[in-house]
Amino acid sequence: MIERSIEEILELYRKEDPTDLYNAAWEVSSRYHGDNVYLRGLVEFTNKCVINCAYCGIRRDNKNVHRYSLDSQTIVDTCVDGYNKGLRTFVLQGGEDKDISVSDLCDTVRKIKKATNNEAAITLSFGSRTLAEYNMMKEAGADRYLLRFETSDPELHFKLRGISLEKRLKNLEDIREAGLQVGSGYMTGLPGETEETRINNALLCHKLNLDMVGIGPFIPSDETPLAGSPQEPIDYALKGTALLRLLLPKAHIPATTAAGSLKPTGREDMIKAGANVLMPNLTPVSVKKDYLLYPGKICLDETGTQCIGCMSMRVKSVGRKVDFSRADALRLKEAAV
Ligand code: SAH
Ligand code: SF4
Repeated sequence: MIERSIEEILELYRKEDPTDLYNAAWEVSSRYHGDNVYLRGLVEFTNKCVINCAYCGIRRDNKNVHRYSLDSQTIVDTCVDGYNKGLRTFVLQGGEDKDISVSDLCDTVRKIKKATNNEAAITLSFGSRTLAEYNMMKEAGADRYLLRFETSDPELHFKLRGISLEKRLKNLEDIREAGLQVGSGYMTGLPGETEETRINNALLCHKLNLDMVGIGPFIPSDETPLAGSPQEPIDYALKGTALLRLLLPKAHIPATTAAGSLKPTGREDMIKAGANVLMPNLTPVSVKKDYLLYPGKICLDETGTQCIGCMSMRVKSVGRKVDFSRADALRLKEAAV
């Protein structure tokens, strides 16, 4: 078994031909996660947001968005439908919608837990919250939280989000303190980012010892201040995935929708570079087109069932198989032994 130091991993990453990097990441992914690609059902429950991230199509100041938020029963029904199709993990994602109180969302979490016989894992992802709120979510039965730091460059972070990187990192500490499994990540190809930023992004994920890491290419959106920015190549996200797999062998790393939107086989390429998770989109088709963080988003007309079928085929095509288990962070499994 090869154990590589950070220096050796970076040396592999910096080679001009990425073949060895991808092969090494595939091998490490196979060793830690077998042939499995885990499915997590995604429910985009609100596109209302009080934050104004410069990269995001549903930012506060974009007036051309039809705003929606799903009611609690619809969220529960959507998850139960996914549960009946075999899914055992659900990700509830949304903007920072101040119309939905954290306590209401916690009620929804309790209802989903009950309706799925406490078998399903629930991941939440709806922005920066207080420690008290993360504690409430854990108390209600939530298992995990996703909050990308977006970029590890403090100046760029502030420029794009109007909030400090330090605050975002404090949120991640709070999430861990609340006892939730911690997911973070970043975009690749943001204007102002350099190769050094991309390396630092991955090293920060390593330092944070994340349970889950989601990365994806930045896709410029017309209705934002970054409209007209260049579309950087998907390779940044693919090489980033491989680098993360080597730095964090145990982490769950999704092959993200943004990669599939930028290139038809983007998600398969991410799996080949070490990703081990896919997120079929269960959001009701009636509102899917309104959750447009970036243009060209795929699967807008497909139902969750169709997404699961399509993903199974894609996974097979690269020599892996889909797995419906809840797949908690490996560190929890080890702690339980
Ligand atoms: N509001 C929450 C979660 C929803 S946004 C939050 O911001 O944490 C989910 C992710 O979409 C963000 O973390 C960001 O990395 C990604 N995203 C936003 N705009 C994007 C774009 N134009 N291209 C690619 N990814 C984008
Ligand atoms: Fe809101 Fe998230 Fe979009 Fe930022 S990225 S504007 S927090 S939905």
